[in-house]
Amino acid sequence: SQPVLEARGVSKLFPAGRSTVRAVEDATLALQPGRIVALVGESGSGKTTLARLLARFYPPTSGEIRLHGEVVKGKPRAYYSDVQLIFQDPFGSLNPLHRVRYNLERAVKLHHPKADVDQRVAELLERVSLTPVEQFIDKFPHELSGGQRQRVVIARALAVEPKVLLGDEPISMLDVSIRLEMLNLLDRLRTEDGLALLYITHDIASARYLCDDIVVMYAGRMIEGGPKEDVIADPLHPYTQLLIDSSPDPERSDRPDLFDAEDLGEPPSLIDPPAGCRFHPRCPLAMDVCRTEAPPRTELPGGRWTHCWLQEKR
Ligand code: SF4
Repeated sequence: SQPVLEARGVSKLFPAGRSTVRAVEDATLALQPGRIVALVGESGSGKTTLARLLARFYPPTSGEIRLHGEVVKGKPRAYYSDVQLIFQDPFGSLNPLHRVRYNLERAVKLHHPKADVDQRVAELLERVSLTPVEQFIDKFPHELSGGQRQRVVIARALAVEPKVLLGDEPISMLDVSIRLEMLNLLDRLRTEDGLALLYITHDIASARYLCDDIVVMYAGRMIEGGPKEDVIADPLHPYTQLLIDSSPDPERSDRPDLFDAEDLGEPPSLIDPPAGCRFHPRCPLAMDVCRTEAPPRTELPGGRWTHCWLQEKR
């Protein structure tokens, strides 16, 4: 089916004094109804910038964003309802001076001026399992737990009946004990509403739990993508292998350890990123070509792709 939201060859450069931060380069991604894509990478890999580009916080420096197949210019009205971004910090995204009811009412009224607001607010709270509704509707954000606040944020996003949810680390500030419940809630919403979901995370274990497809970013570039099982069982890019090996997942396959995690060092600066493959200073398999030329995208059967010279030489 046609993707709801797409990035095609999207780059975002930010001026920084006399330099340029190359936050995202040449990103291509498609979100389909009812499917969850995990965008995985370390902090500073460009994930959040890409989410903001997809949410039209700012325009790309080059490349295209498409909504329902149409190239988007500016921020058309459809965008406000069709694409909703959920942030890491649920406290920061709710108005602390207003009760839950007011926080939700505003979104409902904007989207459906003639709706029965009370009924709609109650329905939204039920959808995110904040029940009984009376227990939550008149609370202030500070009277709720982090998980409850994030549910209110999700309810508010649902008020405008979006087609796409972009979740930027939506569980990473929550208590470990409730993260799984939040992932299950997101999973339920995609099933019930056929939402397209982009789940942005540094944590490959949660990506593995929730998503259908994985896309890995490193230093502003996408380096590998494909169906989750295949990417995790047999990563093509050494950096993906590093991510999987450093994740505390008991089911991981028995590939030999390629890395000594202690020796890896920091991800590179995006102001003056390494030439060639950006991962080459950390890659134990780097060859001469990796230091000078960026690896092209190699497509493999089964919807997989990667940017690594090793695949070109296979
Ligand atoms: Fe390593 Fe070269 Fe592949 Fe980059 S292109 S990940 S340096 S082998």
